[in-house]
Amino acid sequence: MKILLDAGHYGKYNQSPVNPQYYESEVMWRLQGLLQAELLSYGAIVDTTRSDINQNPTVYNRGRMAEGYDLFISLHSNASSSPKTDRVDIYCPIDNRNGSQEFGKTLAQGIADLMGVSYGQTKTKQGVKGEYYGVLRGAMDAHCPMYFLIEHSFHTNEYATNWLLNQQNLAMLAMLEADIIAQKYGLEKPFIKGDVNGNGKLDPRDYILAKRIYFGTYTPTEDELRRCDINGDGKVTARDYLLIKRAVLGSEEIREKRE
Ligand SMILES: [Zn+2]
Repeated sequence: MKILLDAGHYGKYNQSPVNPQYYESEVMWRLQGLLQAELLSYGAIVDTTRSDINQNPTVYNRGRMAEGYDLFISLHSNASSSPKTDRVDIYCPIDNRNGSQEFGKTLAQGIADLMGVSYGQTKTKQGVKGEYYGVLRGAMDAHCPMYFLIEHSFHTNEYATNWLLNQQNLAMLAMLEADIIAQKYGLEKPFIKGDVNGNGKLDPRDYILAKRIYFGTYTPTEDELRRCDINGDGKVTARDYLLIKRAVLGSEEIREKRE
């Protein structure tokens, strides 16, 4: 499964007229990073159209990069002359390829529900040369089997901008989008013993979490418990926590020596 993510704009672009802290480019860049991490934890190959927020390939070229990818998503927030407009719009392929509209609808409704805005819907927009939007025209010309442009509500709506500026909300949004994609494509998170937080790799956050579970300052989910309980006796003991710590530190040592 190969996914290409596209944060809609570069630099400091589309400042919200109702919330000076909000720039569409910056918030969608953050969402892209979180969504990439979530999708990577499902074992997908996930690339982005820019490696730096200040790079600015043309919209068409960004869509064209979707060649060879199974899914392309361009991330945006919308603008309206009415500050009340708050729905979620997802632009889908004009030819409804591979049932894309139905999949888009699931995403749109899920995002609208989570954000607490009025509703989510799918749209298509035909231009003279196929897709109206350059980024989607590029993806179509790249023969990408599934592509979307997601408008995460409106940055002309103050509630939506405040919601999207909250880092925890954004993390939940990324999780939801990744889960819906994973459900659609039958992706499952690989089980790695000691990868307590389930991000697909062993890192210091895992032993910190294991330590908190062992000392009772954190209540694990069922999955976290399963990944933390190294010897599988149904509880997290000092041994589990220390094995994870040693594995993490050990792997870091090996990495340092290689560098
Ligand atoms: Zn945009």
